[in-house]
Amino acid sequence: QRYVFAFHEGDKDHRDLLGGKGANLAEMTNLGLPVPPGFTISTDACRRFLADGQEPPELHAQISGHLARLEAERGKRLGAAVDPLLVSVRSGAKFSMPGMMETILDIGLGDESVDGLAAASGSERFAWDSYRRLIQMFGSTVLGIDAARFNDALEAAEREHGATGDLDLDADALRGVVADYKAIVRDATGRDFPQDPREQLDMAVRAVFASWNTERARIYRRQERIPHDLGTAVTVMAMVYGNLGPHSGTGVAFTRDPATGAPGVYGDYLSEAQGEDVVAGIRTPVPLQELERLQPAAFTELMRIMALLEGHYRDLCDVEFTIERGKLWMLQTRVGKRTAAAAFRMAVQFLDDGLIDVKEALGRVTGEQLAQLMFPQFDPAFEAKPIATGVPASPGAAVGVAVFDSESAARSDLKSILVRRETSPDDLPGIIAAEGVLTSRGGKTSHAAVVARGMGKTCVVGADALEIDLEHRHFTTADGVIVREGDTISIDGTTGRVYSGMIDVVPSPVVEFFEGRLSDDERQRDPVVQAVSRLMIAADEHRRLGVHANADTPADAKRARRFGADGIGLCRTEHMFLGERRRRVEELILAESEAEQDKVLAELLPMQLGDFVGVLAAMDGLPVTIRLIDPPLHEFLPDLTELSVKVALAEARGEVDEGDARLLKAVRRLHEQNPMLGLRGVRLGLVVPGLVAMQVRAIAEAAAARIRAGGDPRPEIMVPLIGGAEEFELMREEIRRVLDDVANTSGLSIRAAIGTMIELPRAALTAGRIAGHAEFFSFGTNDLTQTTWGFSRDDVEGSFFPAYLEQGIFTVSPFESLDEEGVGRLVSIAVEEGRAARRDLVIGVCGEHGGDPSSVRFFDRVGLDYVSCSPFRVPVARLEAGRAAV
Ligand code: PEP
Ligand code: MG
Repeated sequence: QRYVFAFHEGDKDHRDLLGGKGANLAEMTNLGLPVPPGFTISTDACRRFLADGQEPPELHAQISGHLARLEAERGKRLGAAVDPLLVSVRSGAKFSMPGMMETILDIGLGDESVDGLAAASGSERFAWDSYRRLIQMFGSTVLGIDAARFNDALEAAEREHGATGDLDLDADALRGVVADYKAIVRDATGRDFPQDPREQLDMAVRAVFASWNTERARIYRRQERIPHDLGTAVTVMAMVYGNLGPHSGTGVAFTRDPATGAPGVYGDYLSEAQGEDVVAGIRTPVPLQELERLQPAAFTELMRIMALLEGHYRDLCDVEFTIERGKLWMLQTRVGKRTAAAAFRMAVQFLDDGLIDVKEALGRVTGEQLAQLMFPQFDPAFEAKPIATGVPASPGAAVGVAVFDSESAARSDLKSILVRRETSPDDLPGIIAAEGVLTSRGGKTSHAAVVARGMGKTCVVGADALEIDLEHRHFTTADGVIVREGDTISIDGTTGRVYSGMIDVVPSPVVEFFEGRLSDDERQRDPVVQAVSRLMIAADEHRRLGVHANADTPADAKRARRFGADGIGLCRTEHMFLGERRRRVEELILAESEAEQDKVLAELLPMQLGDFVGVLAAMDGLPVTIRLIDPPLHEFLPDLTELSVKVALAEARGEVDEGDARLLKAVRRLHEQNPMLGLRGVRLGLVVPGLVAMQVRAIAEAAAARIRAGGDPRPEIMVPLIGGAEEFELMREEIRRVLDDVANTSGLSIRAAIGTMIELPRAALTAGRIAGHAEFFSFGTNDLTQTTWGFSRDDVEGSFFPAYLEQGIFTVSPFESLDEEGVGRLVSIAVEEGRAARRDLVIGVCGEHGGDPSSVRFFDRVGLDYVSCSPFRVPVARLEAGRAAV
């Protein structure tokens, strides 16, 4: 097998094999740009190395062959005593991982060749500077010696010679530094710095391979969702020298501003330096514009090449270059990373310049980037040390005083952050009142997270280093910092960081735009808003998928509509039983006779009716899918342990409260080991039929009221958590009965499609039979993921998910991005068999995945009719649906 490829043998489309750096160096070579010659060792070799613990046996000879050609081309021998060739050895994976892996420069230098380099270049200082760089870089990355030891030695030498930086050290001083460095190597490794140039090269290649698996590289990949099994390529390139006197230097540059997307060339240049100095921040570079003055010819050439590269790649490029005695060399280019704002702006710029078409412009931005643009953000200029870090569950920036329960949040005159160990449905009012939510337990699909995302509220969950002391109303950080109720904290839902004190927040103009709160003038003036607006129009023109919203209140429904929703895909009715009404649900559960039950239900009916009228009005003319009650009843009752303790204490005092004792009995009766798998959803509807009848009646009467008011209500009724056709059939009969009853008494024709959620594997596997009865399906992928994997959606992220992510079992939580291989297969089966049974079956998804960009693309592929997501994700899903269609 071939593992090594000369630059001229590849091109930019071989990133899999050659890594981004290798592929783009090949491309630049083929474009005739001044690239120092070299070759790339493939990612295959790295994968073999990582699997076997040693390089493939063929590799040594293949490197020798390419090295010989390189030597012939340069007319120099690697590490020779006279005019030596030196090479750089650099990492480069398929997806760029800036600074995460190793690079070693000046390979080939030794005690003899250093004099040869001095003679050939005419500069002793340069030769010894290069040698000390090699030992420093090789020592720390290949030999694993603490980099601080080299830095300390260098600083000591600078002090000794009264120098203010490395540039002030002359050849003799650098000779001394090399001697010190060599002593450090001997001391740390028990052997001398390797003098054999080929041994240096082989060790460096191995070190780059191994650097694929350093801690920071793994963390970075997890964050960026880069698979752990790709491996890195290694490029070996003839050295050109930026440290060869004042007419030499090195720099990085961008063809446009990667932070804002503004046109113009941006970059940094550092005279008398080698590559790593710029990124490592050893000395402060000058802005690229200075280069025009310092080295006009090289500058002009660089501008020409950058324009050429941008035109060739038709995208923002960044480059690394070196100038050796006035001559420009290109060391690297890639399509540059950019902020979300820049991505939108540049896509539209390239579109307007005629370099790309609208489909490609849509391809240049992502839903994730749009989501980032939609959240208020902490002022990026602010630098502070976090007091804790949790799971970033709902992006944004929130500042407020810490409060420890819902009432305090609601009562607080100041903006507040609700701090809880975990949240329950009961915390909803607090979540609404607070600016943001911080919990020490729970993951991204925990209740707090789902609700917060739905409301566009900042949320950090699972900050498990926080000790929350509810009794004393404070929490303690790992460092022992105590934050009391009323103290101001700031939480960043994009990074999961928690800060003490206030950090400045800037609002998102993109949301203001979606909300319709920007004037034409303001819109014109903001290039990011302009770009977003244009690409949203393009996405809507192209998308096949409908985008509905998960919304339970008229306010949410209105917002969803402003954000472009085509209807409501999930109206969760359980949120309508909280707060004041919770007491009535308690009464319902405690009712001892049917008559008592009916009385409570009769009280609940007008309230539900009011809810539905509001939501139907807000979504007039568009479908509103209302889901019958889903959560287990015990969620409406007090906690078993707390109540037991309360009753026991009261008993001990001889003052038992009758009501509490009765309540305790009911709580015990309803207590389940696994409530998520217990009496909930359709099961609840079949066991307590009055509840469903009341809800359906409320829906039907709300529709009637809307019709009478001249509206166009389009309610649909959805049954949760069915496992098969029988459950659904029984439920549907009951629903029909009530609908007919209301139609008869009102004399109105009330049309409501009756369908079901598909959120259990058995439902997916028997979808054909279910579709015989159901008019629509909506995949509840939260529960479907939970029951397919057997992962508890409320517990996993704090417990074993970190280990799973670390071990690469998945690169992203399956609760966040749909597990296409497993859960996705169930979805495909259900779509296929459902449609086979009923051609016009309408199919959507309303789990959290409905707003996840990569999942949206999957749902488009398997032919769903729509996705449904929280109102704030609606624009994101619209954009992704458009992207999926082009
Ligand atoms: C689901 O399970 O995906 C769903 C939408 O229902 P809920 O999250 O309310 O259980
Ligand atoms: Mg569900």
